[in-house]
Amino acid sequence: MTEPQWSRPEGTGATPGHTTKDRLTLRIFLGLVLGFAVGLVLYYLPPALPFAGLEAWVQEYLIDGVFLVFGKIFVNLLKLMIVPLVLVSLICGVTASEESKSLGRLGSKTFVLYLFTTAVAITLALLLGQLIDPGAGANLQGDFEPFQPAERPPFVQVLINIFPDNPMQAMAEGNMLQVIVFAILVGIALNHTGEQGRRIGAIFNDLNVVVMKLIQLIMQLAPYGVFFLVGKVFAEQGIDLLKGLGAYMACVLLALLLHVSGTYMSILVFVARLNPVIFLSKMRSALMFAFSTASSAATMPVTMGIVEKRLGVKNSVASFTIPLGTTINMDGTAIMQGVATVFIASGYGVELGPAEYISVIVTATLASIGTAAVPSAGMITLAMVLGQVGLPAEAIGLILGVDRILDMVRTAVNITGDAVVTCTVARSEGALDQSVFDDPAALEVQPG
Ligand code: ASP
Repeated sequence: MTEPQWSRPEGTGATPGHTTKDRLTLRIFLGLVLGFAVGLVLYYLPPALPFAGLEAWVQEYLIDGVFLVFGKIFVNLLKLMIVPLVLVSLICGVTASEESKSLGRLGSKTFVLYLFTTAVAITLALLLGQLIDPGAGANLQGDFEPFQPAERPPFVQVLINIFPDNPMQAMAEGNMLQVIVFAILVGIALNHTGEQGRRIGAIFNDLNVVVMKLIQLIMQLAPYGVFFLVGKVFAEQGIDLLKGLGAYMACVLLALLLHVSGTYMSILVFVARLNPVIFLSKMRSALMFAFSTASSAATMPVTMGIVEKRLGVKNSVASFTIPLGTTINMDGTAIMQGVATVFIASGYGVELGPAEYISVIVTATLASIGTAAVPSAGMITLAMVLGQVGLPAEAIGLILGVDRILDMVRTAVNITGDAVVTCTVARSEGALDQSVFDDPAALEVQPG
């Protein structure tokens, strides 16, 4: 069975991650900068002007009106693609690998690498938290808004829930792990069904082209979507978003930076033997998306497009590793949770010993699997990590105020981790086309 075609008919617009789209990348970047600037103007200007009622008008009609509506519509359009993309693309991926054995090998390699990078991330965060001690001097007791963590299901239930009893329900609820399991099973069945299987497989390949086309079309709206999303955040919180809890934020950002430049780049250079500069430069539009939407799930269509078309990873690998990574691999989130734990412990005057640190590493690694790929989800699983070492979940209220900006950055790290592991696994499986990776203007992956 051939690889699904990523090529597009001429003159139909840019794709998520290619050169005519370098103009699109630039426009997205402009949207980001303009959103930031306009957001700040909307935050600071109306209160300074002598027009009664202007502030309320801006809030009601602009921030909660135009910005909210267009930002949400754009995120909805991106999310709309998630279920069709994962289902169709993964079925194509499995039918392309044909051998269930190679699928098992691919699965275990990917899973181990995802867990490994997350464990490194959280360890790094804890070490840095210890070194910098961002909570030193902060007496946090009583200094927070209450935060009610959601109930979490018992572990056995989490395990059982990976397997769907109703695929339609799984798709309707956007339960990604269940959709992944369903798509893999359908793909394996198609591989074992001879002529009929090949016919249906060909239909899925065609559907895949249509789904990619739809994503290309939606991407045309990206500069506007990014403008409204970023604009709303800064119009509501101003630059104060960046102030306060400075040491905590600096510590999280530093750990994120070290993880990308240290862990990821070493894996790329020493394990995958790939050029990290090319990798990062090709990832830039996905990074901007992750930053603006603060959702790895919403960014997934872009990540997938770039990994396949610009980094040269075969669909048979990327269609599996990217949706899986989006769902279970959140290194940036784990880093925030590590630093937050050290920060809160220190602010509450609680000493953490080696046993607590190990327990934080294990819990945060597992929590990152269970964190939904949507904005602020990491805050919810943080409650679980804090609870593990006896810290009050209410303390989360304290860092909530500055979480949005950190969420934007850590989401970019989350998707970078997915792409690094994908390239590494693809390389080891002989499923990465080096000429596409090296080509700065790589337009498409040729079929086969
Ligand atoms: N926003 C993150 C993501 O979608 C999850 C989180 O850390 O809150 O990847």
